[in-house]
Amino acid sequence: MDNITIPVSEIFYSIQGEGKYAGNPSIFLRVGGCNLSCPGFSEKGCDSFYAVDRKYKNEWQNLSIEEIKKEIKQYLKFNPDLVITGGEPGLYFDRLYPLVEWFDGLITIETNATIYPDFDKYPKYKKVAFAMSVKLLNSGEEYKKRVKKESIKNISQNAKKSFFKFVVNINLREEIENITKDIDLPIYCMPLGESKEELEINAPFVFDFCLKNGYRYSDRIHIRLFGKKKGI
Ligand code: SF4
Repeated sequence: MDNITIPVSEIFYSIQGEGKYAGNPSIFLRVGGCNLSCPGFSEKGCDSFYAVDRKYKNEWQNLSIEEIKKEIKQYLKFNPDLVITGGEPGLYFDRLYPLVEWFDGLITIETNATIYPDFDKYPKYKKVAFAMSVKLLNSGEEYKKRVKKESIKNISQNAKKSFFKFVVNINLREEIENITKDIDLPIYCMPLGESKEELEINAPFVFDFCLKNGYRYSDRIHIRLFGKKKGI
């Protein structure tokens, strides 16, 4: 078990900037690697391209769960949440489980929801809040790669704290309705943008879009305050 490692792009302490738990002091564990590339988001694709693009692989550290715990322990003073993000954490559901079992507090896993854990084998995943950021048309990904209904259904039925978190800049209501149909979880929409300026262009539309469709609006505090800066 000790020689099992996970590629880690960064571990840092900050404030959750978006979604259901926005505002919560949180430790972020950003894993490297993703099964999508989202060419529609920013000129480099994904806004976390440094945790996705294999060109940055030499910046990722292969850490064991014990090494990750050691990093996390230095931030536990204020009982923060743990946010496992990426990249796509779902690539490592098996390897991450000892960490999920160990952490004594709220865990959010930020995922594109194309992969789901084995909830019977790893029951503590049922206590995790999965922030399901299912990718929409504006991600530039092929539909069949980005929407996996079986996975969304499985996560929704097993992990009741979960929620949807969509990146929006145009009217994607039909797609959102289709993805969330028959699933009773909160739906958050947040403006597309990797800078304060881009966020402010899209925010009024998303605000109105949420009002008209009964969705919850989520801002992106970290982008508003720090733009593309890492580790925050
Ligand atoms: S799914 Fe998320 S992490 Fe992966 S490429 Fe798309 S935006 Fe980036």
